[in-house]
Amino acid sequence: MAKYCSNCGSQINDKDRVCFNCGNHLEISSSKHENAEESTFGYAALGFVFPIVGLILYLVWQDERPRAARSAGKGALVSVISAVALYMLGFIIFLMLI
Ligand SMILES: [Zn+2]
Repeated sequence: MAKYCSNCGSQINDKDRVCFNCGNHLEISSSKHENAEESTFGYAALGFVFPIVGLILYLVWQDERPRAARSAGKGALVSVISAVALYMLGFIIFLMLI
């Protein structure tokens, strides 16, 4: 069974005490309760900053971690929509200038 860093969501080994990716000190307890209470905002932020990563996490985690998967997917979606909106805004401004 794989474990994930509670800070950045990287997959980690059971024996690891510190996340190799972000240096987060990992909780030794691996209760299901912790998973249910887990904040998924970090995954949304991750998906927002890296839409590709968010999309991958969404696809990979759908069964294993549905809440985190949805957050990552949502973040990626918001990011893509924002990027398209910004692009269109830039295009409109460009048209107004010429
Ligand atoms: Zn980490």
